[in-house]
Amino acid sequence: MLDGCGRTIDYLRLSVTDLCNYRCRYCMPAEGVCKRPHADILSVEELVEIGQAAVACGVKKIRLTGGEPLVRRGILSICRGLRAIPGLEELCLTTNGSLLPELAKPLREAGVDRLNISLDTLQPERFANMTRSGTLSDVLDGIHAAEAVGFTDLKLDTVLIGGFNDDEVGGFLQLTMEHPWEVRFIELMPMGPCAEWETSCFLSVDTILKRYSTLQVIEPNGVARRYHLPGAKGTVGLISPLSHDFCGQCRRIRVTADGKLKGCLHSREELPLRGLHGKDLEDAIRRGILQKPQRHHLAEGPSDTPRTMNQIGG
Ligand code: SAM
Ligand code: SF4
Repeated sequence: MLDGCGRTIDYLRLSVTDLCNYRCRYCMPAEGVCKRPHADILSVEELVEIGQAAVACGVKKIRLTGGEPLVRRGILSICRGLRAIPGLEELCLTTNGSLLPELAKPLREAGVDRLNISLDTLQPERFANMTRSGTLSDVLDGIHAAEAVGFTDLKLDTVLIGGFNDDEVGGFLQLTMEHPWEVRFIELMPMGPCAEWETSCFLSVDTILKRYSTLQVIEPNGVARRYHLPGAKGTVGLISPLSHDFCGQCRRIRVTADGKLKGCLHSREELPLRGLHGKDLEDAIRRGILQKPQRHHLAEGPSDTPRTMNQIGG
């Protein structure tokens, strides 16, 4: 359906947990988040019911996210339940990849169509430092496990951070020469722990275009401007929420793991969905779509949301 600004809304990002096995410095506090009582988080049945209502409101694509969706108990039942919704065209999942060695195959069997795997550095020590608890080889094994079970059009999402990984862009581009993956560089957004980081950490992805003039433009996909290197098997995506905001083309709504509908990642406005069923749930989702904010205000300052990224669903 159309939102209040005339944008088509057909994409739901559905968070299944705010917990994570990593503690990426820009996303989560070092101590993690307080584990909530089980009942505070949407149940498998509630998640599927919200998916059904969203599809009735025009959603065609659902992306599961978190926190880390693969630490959620029942993730495979959630996937199976959503995949069975008539009219849902695509079920995707964003993950840090660490649990894919065990879960890639069951996720494929549960009907997940596509995976995005987050990977900010190719250097083991940097990786351990940024995630505060992760091991790079787990994620690399996860990527290969995903490919082996048929997730062919993998996207690797890299948050570009000045002074941390901007010297690794060449290494990531090289991956596209060797593999049919899309490596996507995403601008760091000032929210949660990184809201107060130095301005030098926040780089425009356009710096990549300036440094690598051999990148050739190809057709965009959603909010990603896309390129490829001559002779490459894969592609490169640039996602620039700060330097070129794409609010005018935004097709998304989000639902947090505690059941709040958010029209915009960066807005304070939230609409509670828990306890609603059938037509009441659909009406609430329609109301949330109609009230979707026109744009975010990151160009003027940090995100308005008091939530950290893991508490919304990136
Ligand atoms: N745990 C999963 C993962 O890391 O892919 C899914 C949730 S995570 C919040 C989703 C994405 O949000 C990740 O690619 C992460 O790098 C990105 N992210 C988190 N905080 C961000 C920020 N402040 N700016 C830009 N991207 C961010
Ligand atoms: Fe966890 Fe993903 Fe946040 Fe890293 S970015 S702490 S993996 S939720």
